[in-house]
Amino acid sequence: MDFNQKIYDIVATAESKLTAHFTSLNNVAFLNQKKVLEAFQSNNVASRHMSQTSGYGYDDIGRDTLCKLFADIFHAEKAIVSPLIASGTHALTVALFGVLRPNDKMISITGAPYDTLRSVIYGDNIGSLKDFGVEYDQIELKDSKVDLHAITEAFSKSKYKLAFIGRSRGYEWRDALSVEEIGIVIKHIKKIDPDTVVMVDNCYGEFMDIVEPTDVGADLMVGSLIKNPGGGIAPTGGYIAGSTKWVDQVAYRLIAPSIGMEVGSYAAGYMQFYQGIFLAPTTAINAVKGSALMGQVFADLGYEVMPAPTANCNDIIRSIKFDTSEKLIKFIQSIQKASPVDSNVMPIPWAMPGYDSEVIMAAGTFVQGASIELSADSPIREPYIAYVQGGVTYEHVKLATMYCLQDLLNL
Ligand SMILES: *Cc1c(COP(=O)(O)O)cnc(C)c1O
Repeated sequence: MDFNQKIYDIVATAESKLTAHFTSLNNVAFLNQKKVLEAFQSNNVASRHMSQTSGYGYDDIGRDTLCKLFADIFHAEKAIVSPLIASGTHALTVALFGVLRPNDKMISITGAPYDTLRSVIYGDNIGSLKDFGVEYDQIELKDSKVDLHAITEAFSKSKYKLAFIGRSRGYEWRDALSVEEIGIVIKHIKKIDPDTVVMVDNCYGEFMDIVEPTDVGADLMVGSLIKNPGGGIAPTGGYIAGSTKWVDQVAYRLIAPSIGMEVGSYAAGYMQFYQGIFLAPTTAINAVKGSALMGQVFADLGYEVMPAPTANCNDIIRSIKFDTSEKLIKFIQSIQKASPVDSNVMPIPWAMPGYDSEVIMAAGTFVQGASIELSADSPIREPYIAYVQGGVTYEHVKLATMYCLQDLLNL
């Protein structure tokens, strides 16, 4: 691919504006790398932990140590980390079903939960929480912030077993929540009702800050291993971290009551999960640096970008607003073209299970659908927003930005 000199110039100009921002991002990666390294050391991680296991997996030290390692990194009492968790939605589903019982109520305090969770919570006759008699309420965000006043009001009328916080922007034109804000919200809820279980959907949020929701009082924090904490290496899986009491309940739901995480094997071995969490602090920051550059380039060209290129990031997503669906589709197709895998595939808008509108996705990834690798997706609905995330190397995202410029500007 030969790029016009003008493309190099646009990218160089954008890059020069990001020096200070990159220095501060590098420092986050450094401090998180230190935290992760020290957890490996205090858990005496050794070659034997990487081994494959089979059958029931009784006394599987690879599994047990991996769970311990995640718990320590996230400063949680306990964690479940498992390749038996199929996706982020699966992890969130078992967490919700682990805590909630018939006639309980849950409330989302960050507006609608991520698209795929909506059916899980209030779908009809598909084994949703609603089908099991769990009631659901929702509080909208106010100017991208959690509405504390509305929480006070809702809790004065109802008792909630579980409060749900979505940290990431999901498919919304809003900012992700900072861990600091999550902490303030949790304190507020616990003051009203200390028994309410606070669960955070932490997908895309890990290692964006030097603290995580479990550092500020979350009872449960849930994420996917084909996003940030898998470091671009973990082939599948999810995690749930939090207090022993609730993590145990989730394990009983994931595996079986009273058995929990005593069983579960993995015949492919655990090396990629260990290596993945070790690389994760750097990988996640590489992704954000890449998307900051892409964001700066598009902002310089007059596009609306969120978060602003040099703003603090609380998830790895960068949203770019296009004025037509054609440009949006072209942008996503350019990302696919710039991918190491399936670069010849042309993505088109398509109906996806769990999503309301048609979705177009670029995911030329090694691990199928891994969005810690460079990927972009968008529901085809107004306003036309592309959500870009991932990129295990900064240079790859930079190249992809150049592909986008070439296709959109016809330079
Ligand atoms: C990815 C994601 C999920 C879970 O989605 P899966 O595709 O099932 O892994 C949930 N919430 C948010 C905010 C996400 O980004």
